[in-house]
Amino acid sequence: MFSLTQFPLNYAPDTLVPYMSPDTINCHHGRHLATYIKNLNDLSADTQYADMPLHEIIVRAAADNGATKIFNNAAQVFNHDFFFHCIAPNGGGEIPDEICRAFGSADKFRTEFINAAAGVFGSGWAWIVRDGTTLKIITTANADTPIAHGLTPVLALDVWEHAYYLDYQNRRVDFINAFIDHLVNWDFVRENIEK
Ligand code: MN
Repeated sequence: MFSLTQFPLNYAPDTLVPYMSPDTINCHHGRHLATYIKNLNDLSADTQYADMPLHEIIVRAAADNGATKIFNNAAQVFNHDFFFHCIAPNGGGEIPDEICRAFGSADKFRTEFINAAAGVFGSGWAWIVRDGTTLKIITTANADTPIAHGLTPVLALDVWEHAYYLDYQNRRVDFINAFIDHLVNWDFVRENIEK
């Protein structure tokens, strides 16, 4: 039987200090993501979803009322793998021209993204997505993911409390600022814009 295994991190857990601690990475990647993968494997075993590529599981389960748990776990596997690729040691720095053009300026982008991410009530995600040729900022609740809505993810920020509470407690806005200014892998973002 096909089953997903843990997605490797392409940086060491201690390389994002002081903006994200090894404790956060080890708990978030090593436990939360690992649990979503295990749940997805367990739930999809012996179902039509057992041998499907992850993207297809998400799109099909989104339209299947009996597959809510499979959707939630599959979407969280995709969202987390994408999120961890959006981060890099020595990240941040200059915001790409493509983003500045799409949102008016670097400052306008920062303000719009920070407000969107700060405004997620409860657990969820803030995204830059590509809709055709247009870049947009959206948020999704809980496990929901742009690929269930035909949108192409460009940048993801996890604003579930488990993403920041060990380092920032209730200061979500400080985490969002640190993400934009010091953690984003803009090379990965550029690749997603060009895809
Ligand atoms: Mn998370």
